[in-house]
Amino acid sequence: MPEENVHPGDLDDAEKMYQLGLSYLYGTDAPKDYAKAAECFKASCAKGYMPSRRELGIMYASGQGVEPDMQKAIRYLGDAADSLDPSALYHLGLMYEVGTGVPKDMQKAVRMLAYAAEMGFPGADVDAERVDAVLTEQRNRNLRARPLLKLQISDVDVEAACCKPMLDALLAQDIVFIDSFKGPALLGEDKDGMDAVLDRCPFCGAPVQIVPRDKKYRSDKRINPHVGMT
Ligand SMILES: [Zn+2]
Repeated sequence: MPEENVHPGDLDDAEKMYQLGLSYLYGTDAPKDYAKAAECFKASCAKGYMPSRRELGIMYASGQGVEPDMQKAIRYLGDAADSLDPSALYHLGLMYEVGTGVPKDMQKAVRMLAYAAEMGFPGADVDAERVDAVLTEQRNRNLRARPLLKLQISDVDVEAACCKPMLDALLAQDIVFIDSFKGPALLGEDKDGMDAVLDRCPFCGAPVQIVPRDKKYRSDKRINPHVGMT
């Protein structure tokens, strides 16, 4: 969404260049020409106009109008995502989901897609739900595969359950992992049914331990024959 008449001087020109770039990109007010679109975005980028950085990032990722260059794509999209551009967050989120030009990171993907969805980027909610469903499935599989000994969470998820009632509560999502402003935590209910951060298991009393993410369990492959059994 262009902000009309907000930026003085250079940024005004940069925005006009951006709009012209969009015209070439979509063939709206000008014949479709990806190379020209890229030139416009580059000129606009040089003046610091962030939406052009996002468009250029997408073009470098797809190779439309420019030589494909993943490093540039990630850098440009990353800059735009840092400035909370919903479209950049969305595209970068999808790249993290698949591992295109970046190490595959589903946790990062779901955060970016959910953020884009929150800001109203069309379709991002569906993608966020899809990645979230995969992560939930994976986590549930991991939890079932692990011995019921300790209640452990990492910075991104629940890693292990302490007892069968806790396992069931986690699988049913009655108790959930949250990344709170105080750091990772488990959220359940207190005696009055109000949301409460748990410092121990309400069933067996095991304390919540914070541990490093266990990479071994991040594999998509089934690594334990008992996985999937309830
Ligand atoms: Zn327990």
